[in-house]
This record gives sequence, structure tokens and C-alpha cells, in this order.
Amino acid sequence: MAGPPLCLPFAVQAAGNNEALLLSCMNFRLLDEIVKYMDGRSLTNNYDHVVLAGASLGALYEKKPSWGQTFWDHVDVAQQLHHIKKVMVMDHRDCGAYKVFISLDHAKTPKDEFDIHATYLRKLRTDIKTRFPGLEVELLLMGLDGKVETVS
Ligand SMILES: [Zn+2]
Repeated sequence: MAGPPLCLPFAVQAAGNNEALLLSCMNFRLLDEIVKYMDGRSLTNNYDHVVLAGASLGALYEKKPSWGQTFWDHVDVAQQLHHIKKVMVMDHRDCGAYKVFISLDHAKTPKDEFDIHATYLRKLRTDIKTRFPGLEVELLLMGLDGKVETVS
């Protein structure tokens, strides 16, 4: 029996615009908090979502070049299909990818942890602005309690 086309929601969406593309980490602990945060920003069902372990670090990590390419390809497609206006990059505290990829244990101080994430987030913002000068970039760091800090 033939079912509906698998890509129907995507095809329907493709005709319209949405506001943003979100890059977040894959961490299972925060998926509901991420949706809650985006709902709170009035972006419910109005953003594309790319998931890479480590978020900004995943996109930048030189030992995983295909991840970075995947990110850039998705920004490009999101811009073509949905005319996104901005990219939101959301790292999170206690991120396993930061520990695995750059052997970082940022249990030291919350300030140190913030600064390390800010370094990668800002680097990715620079790269996004270079490749897609028309896009706004928003940098975010989520705590395990779901609270989100902005990185300027
Ligand atoms: Zn993570």
C-alpha cells in the first residue's frame, strides 16, 4: 500500500520562509530544553536544525572535516530553500565533545568554561560571516538547567 510521500513536511516547508537555522550539540539531555528555548523565542516550527556533537566545535574541528562541510552545506540549503535570516549556534556546558575532541575538562570554573566555548563560538561566527555575509549570527551557551547565556 502506498503511503504519503516521506518528504511531505519538507516539501510543504520548502515553499515558505523561516527565520533561522539552529546548530546544536547532539546531547540527549538537552533536546527538550532546546525546543523549549526556541518556543520561548517564538520560533516554534520556524527554524531548521542541524545537530553536530560539540555544536561550534563540531563544525570547526579539523579532524572531522566532513562535519564542517555538512554544516556549510546545510546553511547553504537552508538559505536557498527557506531564506533564513540568521544562524543560531548553541553550545552547552558539560559538553562531552569538548572533553573527547580537545581533552578539555572544564569543571574548573564556570567562567573558564564560558570562555572556552566563547572562543569556538566566535571563531565559527567569523567563518559564517565570511561565507554568508548577509546572515546574522547569534551565539548561545546553554547550561544543564536549560538556562541560556548569550555570547557577544
Ligand atoms: Zn555536547
